[in-house]
Amino acid sequence: MDYLPFVLVEGKINSMKAEIIAVGTELLLGDILNTNAQFLSKQLAMLGIEVYHQTVIGDNGERLLEAFDEAFKRCDVVITSGGLGPTKDDITKEMASKYFGKELTLNEEELKNIEQYFNKTGKKMTENNRKQAYFPKNDIILKNNNGTAPGAIMKGENGGIIIVLPGPPKELIPMFKESVVPYLKNTTDSTLYSKIIRLFGIGESTMEDEIKDILESQTNPTVAPYAKESDLILRITSKAKDEKEAKKLIEPLEKQITQRLAKYIYGTNEDTLESVVGEKLIKENLTIASAESCTGGMLSSKLVNVPSISKVFIEGAVTYSNQSKMGRLSVKKETLEKYGAVSKETAIEMAEGIAKSARTDIGISTTGIAGPEGGTSEKPVGLVYIGLYIKGNTLVKELNIKGSRERVRTRATMEALNFLRLELNKIQVAK
Ligand code: AMP
Ligand code: MG
Repeated sequence: MDYLPFVLVEGKINSMKAEIIAVGTELLLGDILNTNAQFLSKQLAMLGIEVYHQTVIGDNGERLLEAFDEAFKRCDVVITSGGLGPTKDDITKEMASKYFGKELTLNEEELKNIEQYFNKTGKKMTENNRKQAYFPKNDIILKNNNGTAPGAIMKGENGGIIIVLPGPPKELIPMFKESVVPYLKNTTDSTLYSKIIRLFGIGESTMEDEIKDILESQTNPTVAPYAKESDLILRITSKAKDEKEAKKLIEPLEKQITQRLAKYIYGTNEDTLESVVGEKLIKENLTIASAESCTGGMLSSKLVNVPSISKVFIEGAVTYSNQSKMGRLSVKKETLEKYGAVSKETAIEMAEGIAKSARTDIGISTTGIAGPEGGTSEKPVGLVYIGLYIKGNTLVKELNIKGSRERVRTRATMEALNFLRLELNKIQVAK
């Protein structure tokens, strides 16, 4: 997939604005975290729908009505979470219909669905649960496949829309994805497209510096950088009336960015370092084995993330002790004594040793000081060597990684993958 399509065309609202109102006294008391707001905000952003406000309201009808009133001064759609349960303090649906001046009537079909849910789960239905089958007559009812409380999409005469969703995330999330996303896609009339460019080996500020002029001059598409633990993402997003237009807007900008940052870019959209490397190994039919010390299996675990890697990944050995480095990989005793386990020389012998014994085209090794203890001034915590035997040549890379034990290990793993990626690119060029 080259582009991630978000919003379809057709429809009425241009530049839709939404607000989220999370309902529940337990949220105000700090008993639970408002993860629904986070989920909804993220989803709405992906749909190209602007969210400028989130509100949390207790289980109080009057304040909820006020919140609706405030929200509709600013937006087209209000999405609520919570307060759809069977008890008296669950009032969201009641207040939403009151706000729009609608009457709730018993919906026989929904009542049957709720009864069926109770039969299926073997739980006892109480009289209170009937309350959950009351809806305004002409509104859309959202099926709840994971609980008893259906949601609803209510339309007001003023053009506003209130979408009420249940509180439990395991009910709200599927309901949103199954029913609300398609509805919203058909209700907004602009299309949003995003393309993600993935980079490794460059810091956020350096990257921003290199493409400062591009970042500053863009309004449509927009370019947003995000730094993740070990890599960097540039999300290019365009807004247009249809898919074709949106893609057309992205292309020249993507080209410009790719030209400037080529040496750091390892992929786009859903790519990962391991998927890019793994797919290349499979395509070129190059077999590989790994010998890991400080990364303790992380590297082989990453490789195993890639489907069909079994075609080329022969073995991953965690050779943590000197004894294992000598016994399993034939690292020489003298090498360990003279240079130490964390050294260029050992990394090289590890990579060569694993490739030889596993009979692979490529052998990759890691050895380093993960910390927090054990560093010296000569060999500080974070010093890592990556050995790479690749078809008769052996290379080694020295890294100085800052941070916790976990970070040293994950970063070393990613660096090893990237090292391999760059060398694989050279092979292809040389062919
Ligand atoms: P309610 O539908 O208001 O009765 O909520 C039922 C349950 O859903 C609560 O007890 C919480 O466990 C969960 N819940 C409600 N609102 C939220 C929210 N905003 N974020 C995460 N979980 C929630
Ligand atoms: Mg509640």
